[in-house]
Amino acid sequence: MLDSKGISKQQQLETHIQLIEYFTQSIYRSNSIEDILWDICNNCVQKLNFVDCVVYLVDKKSNDLVQRAAFGEKVAVEPALKDPIRMRFGQGIVGSVAEKGEFEIIPDTSSDERYIVDDGVRLSELAVPIIFENKVIGVIDSEHPEKDFFNSCQARVLTNIAAICAHKIAWFESKQQNEIAINFHQANPNPALRINVMGDVLDYNAASLEILNVMKWDGKVIRCLNCLKSIRDVVHYGNRVFFLESESTSWKVFCESVENKSYVYIFATEVTELIQARKDAEAARIEKAKFLSSMSHEIRTPLHAIISLTDLLNSTLLNKKQEEYLEMLKFSGKNLLALVNDILEFERLELSAIEIDEMGFQLDSTLQMLIDSFKILAEEKGIYLESNIHAISNFFIRSDEQKLTQILTNLLGNAIKFTDRGGVRLDAEIEPNEDGSVRITFAITDSGVGIPASQISEIFEVFKMVHADSRKRGGTGLGLAICKRLSEYLGGQLSVESTEGKGSKFTFSFDAELVSPNCTVDETTEQKNQLINKKVLVVDDNKVNLIVACTFLRQWGAIPTEADSGFAALELLEKNQFDVVLMDIQMPRMDGIETTQKYFSNPDNPIVPIVGLTADVFANTREAALAAGMIDLITKPFNPRSLEATLLNLVGDQKE
Ligand code: ADP
Repeated sequence: MLDSKGISKQQQLETHIQLIEYFTQSIYRSNSIEDILWDICNNCVQKLNFVDCVVYLVDKKSNDLVQRAAFGEKVAVEPALKDPIRMRFGQGIVGSVAEKGEFEIIPDTSSDERYIVDDGVRLSELAVPIIFENKVIGVIDSEHPEKDFFNSCQARVLTNIAAICAHKIAWFESKQQNEIAINFHQANPNPALRINVMGDVLDYNAASLEILNVMKWDGKVIRCLNCLKSIRDVVHYGNRVFFLESESTSWKVFCESVENKSYVYIFATEVTELIQARKDAEAARIEKAKFLSSMSHEIRTPLHAIISLTDLLNSTLLNKKQEEYLEMLKFSGKNLLALVNDILEFERLELSAIEIDEMGFQLDSTLQMLIDSFKILAEEKGIYLESNIHAISNFFIRSDEQKLTQILTNLLGNAIKFTDRGGVRLDAEIEPNEDGSVRITFAITDSGVGIPASQISEIFEVFKMVHADSRKRGGTGLGLAICKRLSEYLGGQLSVESTEGKGSKFTFSFDAELVSPNCTVDETTEQKNQLINKKVLVVDDNKVNLIVACTFLRQWGAIPTEADSGFAALELLEKNQFDVVLMDIQMPRMDGIETTQKYFSNPDNPIVPIVGLTADVFANTREAALAAGMIDLITKPFNPRSLEATLLNLVGDQKE
């Protein structure tokens, strides 16, 4: 049997087998998708006597079928398409075959409404889908001017060719996608890497080389233990951020865990400028601290002199008017000192320059002392000060007594200050925590002016004064800001409730450990000892300070000797025996710390307790003083009673 072209069935079969054989082999030689597609078109036209053949592939982005190769009379024979046809799934015969995933032979296109007329009418059409992994990835399409040209043998042979080529087309496509992804990854100016828990670098882009160096990458694995630890943490506990630095560059590193995988994605951004800015800010903070330290010395030293001299003047014979002036002078001096102290205290808290100084103490006796001192103030104002601290009676706790006292002093002081009628009440509660510690809560309630609801949220901010007369009442606007920070230092909470015109309630809670009474200081030492005839060397470059200290020492029965410099002190120490030395820290040429070091560097010098005196309140000064060999450090202006107590503790004689 011959067909219309006079070709026998046997010949046709032979051609089909040859075609399939050809594609089975040629596919391995083709180097691109275009090679394959043009080969399909070419062979179909030549070997199957088609007049044209077009191959469409699905465009991944638009999901349209796009003409990628075409061969025949109605299109350019060159393997380059100027204006490729696009077709949606379902559109025309090609789109409909793509949608169904099955080949179609249209014997008469004139009776098929899907047929789209192109440059001229073709009367029959064959369209075969290219399928990969159950998905249509393209369509091979041929049209013919005669009706009924295509038969099922051609359709089957074309289906086979499509199946043979589909794999390689898909492979090329995924290779292209891969290349795009790799180029995209490599073009990233930020380091991007993939590292497993063993430190193997699985993948990295060009921008990663510097960071890999810092991670101590030896070409296979990273050897930086900190980085490895971070990577392992990320795998086990989730994402995190850390910083890395080389000599010239700093990075913020983001680690991202990948579900069920033992590797992490690492993305880094350069933050050199940011880190530098942070370092500069830190340096500026330190500079500021130093500035504050010397400012505190500069301001507090003359203030100390003023206040101490008023104390001395007070012990002389004065007339009524002089006493009055002196009282006013002392009040202003103390106020100024309070302000300077508040500013310094606040700055120290801001700079985290204070330390928690925990010790055991009896809570109710500390509170009782506070209450007693504030009772006088309340009485003077004609208001009451009540307390109910029964709940904490006889409890010894371990905490920072000074900071706690500072908070309560501020809160009680404010309550009395802002209450003109009625009074103030202090309540203390104690309750056990699960871990064996206790939670102590103080409530300071007053019947004073109260705080307007609109301002209550800002009450703990610096220099916030709610009332117009706050300054007149003796405020600095720093008290509550300091309290808030101090309470945070103690790990506690400070809160307020208030009704304007009715009063306020400040509540402070903190956790503390209970201790046995033996841990606390012996309060009776002071009464047992005395300073009669104790030889005290007072070293200070400031004449007024020398006079003040020596006057007090004489009042306590001690024998003071003055030295106005570190050099003079060393000379005096060489020739005389002293029981104790009071040494100013800030002195020109040779300061107190250097003088102390020099003294103790000579092993022949007898051991003498040296107590430092400083107007500067910073923890590092204390450390330096103790490191130099000083036994203690007292802040100026000193409270005469606490100086006396320190000296009594050090060198006091036992009373009979
Ligand atoms: P100050 O030194 O002015 O008291 P604080 O920071 O301690 O500074 O308090 C800030 C402001 O909060 C006060 O000026 C006052 O207006 C208000 N305030 C504080 N405590 C009370 C209180 N117990 N009753 C009413 N107002 C208060």
